Amino acid sequence: MGNTGNAGAEETHWYKDTVLVMVDRAHVMPFILCAHADASYSGRKDIGPLLNRCIHDVRTQPHVVQYKSSLDQVCEFITGANEDAHRMKARYRSTGSFYPNDVVVKVIESSILFRNVANPQRVVLCASGKLPISAFEAMGTLLGVAPFAMLEYALTGALARHSTLYAKARMLDALFGGDLRNRSGAAAGWAEKLLLQATKEIKQVTEDDGEALADVAICFNDEELLRTVIMPTVMANTSQTLFAVGFLFCWGHNAEAVFQQHTFHSVFDQVWSPMLADFQIVPKPPPPAVALSESTAKNIVGLLFVLDKQGLPDELHALVTSIVRRSLPGAKGDVLLSVWMRVINSLAPLAVLKLHDSIGLFYKLLYQHILRTFVKTYVGLQPTPHRGWARPRLACGCRACWPVNLFLASITQQTETFSAQKDDRYHLHCMLDDSGFDGTHETKRTYREPQILVVTKRDRVKGKYDAWVGRCRKAYDEIQKFDQDGLRQLLGAELYEEIVEMRSVCLHAMDAPGLEFLNRRQPVQEVRNSPAPPPAAPAAPLARVGVKRKAAVIDLSGDSD
Ligand SMILES: [Zn+2]
Repeated sequence: MGNTGNAGAEETHWYKDTVLVMVDRAHVMPFILCAHADASYSGRKDIGPLLNRCIHDVRTQPHVVQYKSSLDQVCEFITGANEDAHRMKARYRSTGSFYPNDVVVKVIESSILFRNVANPQRVVLCASGKLPISAFEAMGTLLGVAPFAMLEYALTGALARHSTLYAKARMLDALFGGDLRNRSGAAAGWAEKLLLQATKEIKQVTEDDGEALADVAICFNDEELLRTVIMPTVMANTSQTLFAVGFLFCWGHNAEAVFQQHTFHSVFDQVWSPMLADFQIVPKPPPPAVALSESTAKNIVGLLFVLDKQGLPDELHALVTSIVRRSLPGAKGDVLLSVWMRVINSLAPLAVLKLHDSIGLFYKLLYQHILRTFVKTYVGLQPTPHRGWARPRLACGCRACWPVNLFLASITQQTETFSAQKDDRYHLHCMLDDSGFDGTHETKRTYREPQILVVTKRDRVKGKYDAWVGRCRKAYDEIQKFDQDGLRQLLGAELYEEIVEMRSVCLHAMDAPGLEFLNRRQPVQEVRNSPAPPPAAPAAPLARVGVKRKAAVIDLSGDSD
């Protein structure tokens, strides 16, 4: 009891270990939900456990009215809170204190399964941002349970927030249990209409839309639609190589089973030639910069696999030539790392398998060029160890600046001290700052004037060199991800060693501190002829590489003949 007759004590603080609170059954939920009512700046309290508990109760004891009512109240509370957050967001442009979408997904599930909330669209529509794919999976399970009319409005709203065709197609896939081709019932007509509309409305395609368009075509399996809607969009965008590659990959992979042979090949051929004619993996002008998506490498590898599966050696040759001649020369280090190295890594099993076929040559070409370019561009040439200390002079010829200028012009001096009076020091500090001098200038305090000014030029070479070693290490690690025997066969023994030891970028083969991990063999012939020496203990795994490699080459050529 509280200390006044009217109000009880608040339940927020107490001084005992345990407190027993007796609440009228009808007020249990409101009492518990009080704790969640405060949408403070730190976000909402985790309501997940409470919601899970209520769902569990209803599932296990569906006949207990009290449990249904509790779940109902919690769902209503969450929905109301999100609606409030929506209003706040609209009015004050605040971020709003929303319940996260995994909670929303659970509310959707329970709201229809137990028919506790009359309007599930409320829950969906007031969710924050794009609902995740799990929400569509959840709603998919409801398709057979609830009448579609109950879901339609909510689903349309939720889907509208995903802007690209690719995203819409993925969400619809999830809705129909992972494959839109399984669509049925009233929802099927709705999904078709929506997808068709999205396909017609595509203006600026993204890389992933290529794959999505092929998916839509395959899903509808309608030649008329293919001819009148899909192909015009695809053909208008073949100059966007990544989009076209995505389309060809998905088409080549999946369409054969659905369309007639004639249609399958004709579509492939139609897109192939213009795609190849404009082959460009990264658009040349910097703006608008098109970010490479995660799909890029996947799509390129996918297309290469399709060409192999379909037995198209001329096309393979043309694609490899385009990559080598048109994409690699201007490719930046990060593109080589994130796209091309991934491509050849995923392709390795196929490439090794086809090594002795007539097309093996094309794969070899691809590996040789990509790895060579990767080392040359990503790692880059070893920075020159020559430390040129000369720096630009100050734009002043006064008495105080003169000795400083001498020092700045010196190619051998990194640091120098100058004795200077206060005014001169001030002048020198200003001049050095204004000239953009790369280094430090400090007054070393002594007991009396003139005091000492210490000027130090920054060592540019060290920073550059360390960064270069870092890239060497990264490149080395990337190359180690390959099956080394396969890689050696693809590159040929000589190039393999050149690549693995990064000889093309090292100025002084044996004078590169920090590169011990490369474990270069001394350029002396004795190693080759002597039996494998026991490797040194600490560097054992790497030390063996150089020696064992030789033996393996001999073995393999013996086997293959
Ligand atoms: Zn001066």
